[in-house]
Order: sequence, then structure tokens, then C-alpha cells
Amino acid sequence: MTIAIYPGSFDPITNGHLDIATRAAKLFEKLVIGVYKTPTKHPLFTPEERVELTKQAIVGLPNVEVKSFTGLTIDFAKKVNAQVMVRGLRMTADFEREFDMAMMHKKLLPELELVCLMATLKYQFLSSSLLKEVASLGGNIDDLVPQPVAVALRKKFIVKLDSERGA
Ligand code: ADP
Repeated sequence: MTIAIYPGSFDPITNGHLDIATRAAKLFEKLVIGVYKTPTKHPLFTPEERVELTKQAIVGLPNVEVKSFTGLTIDFAKKVNAQVMVRGLRMTADFEREFDMAMMHKKLLPELELVCLMATLKYQFLSSSLLKEVASLGGNIDDLVPQPVAVALRKKFIVKLDSERGA
């Protein structure tokens, strides 16, 4: 059975991530989304919240599961017996970063294959960081994230926006 991991910060999961997971789930018998607990950028959501929101997003995908992890991604791959790592590639900044990481992962665990899926056109410019910025300013992000994420983002930012508006 071919098992793939799809690691990332997922802070929070977006429709762009979900699109990659949905397509990868058709390619592999099992896909394990790995939510990295301690990303370098300070996350908005706790690891538990990120896992929960990701679980809610993949409800319709029976061969996909969600786990959190710390430490090296290759150790997470070994732990879940994955042969493949999936990543999404957007048009601009992703390639160089992914290429460097892929070279390092290849050195550390040569048998782990990397499969990069090109981001769907409408999600090319969607990132969790831009999404959070727009949401923090009260912009409508409903088309860009699964519904529970939109609700969670509103909850996170509503207090801040209300206090800024003097409510
Ligand atoms: P990381 O901190 O590891 O980059 P992210 O949660 O930002 O974690 O992204 C996880 C993976 O999903 C990465 O491979 C990233 O390139 C990919 N990704 C992020 N946003 C999109 C998108 N809009 N479309 C396709 N892939 C995406």
C-alpha cells in the first residue's frame, strides 16, 4: 500500500491545501496530513486547533487522516510508514524552497520520494499568511477556506476588530 504524507503548518488549512489533499488522495491509497506543531513563524492557531480544523476540512475524504508532529519531517514519514511526501507548488516563491528542502530530505532519507502537485490556478495566490492578514482586517475570506475555518478566523479576529472600532 502506498502511503503519502502531506506535511505543513496548516495555520489554518485553506482551500488551496484542501485541493492538494483531495488530488493526492486519488493518487495514493492513504494520505496522512502532518500538522507541524512548532513552525518557525508564530502560528495564529494552536496545534490542537490546526489539527481539528484540518480534520473538519477532510471529512469527505475517507483515505485521509490528520496527525500532528514535531521534529524532522522524515522521522514523521518513517513513523507512519510513508514512501511519498506530497507538497503543493504555487507559481512564485515555492519552487526554490521546495527544491532545497527536497535535496536535504533526499540526503536524510533517500527512499522517500517527493511528489509536488501544481496549485490550481484559482488558488495560486492563496497562502495562510495572506489569508490571516485579510481576515484580520475584516475582509471576506469565505471562498478561500472551508466553512469551519472561516468561522474560527472570525472568532479569532472579532474581538480585535471590535476593540479597534471602539465597539
Ligand atoms: P509550510 O510552513 O510547510 O510551507 P504551509 O501550511 O504553508 O506549510 O503549506 C503546506 C504545503 O501546502 C506546502 O507545500 C505549500 O507550498 C502548499 N500550499 C500552501 N498554499 C497552497 C495553495 N494555495 N495551493 C497549493 N498548495 C499550497
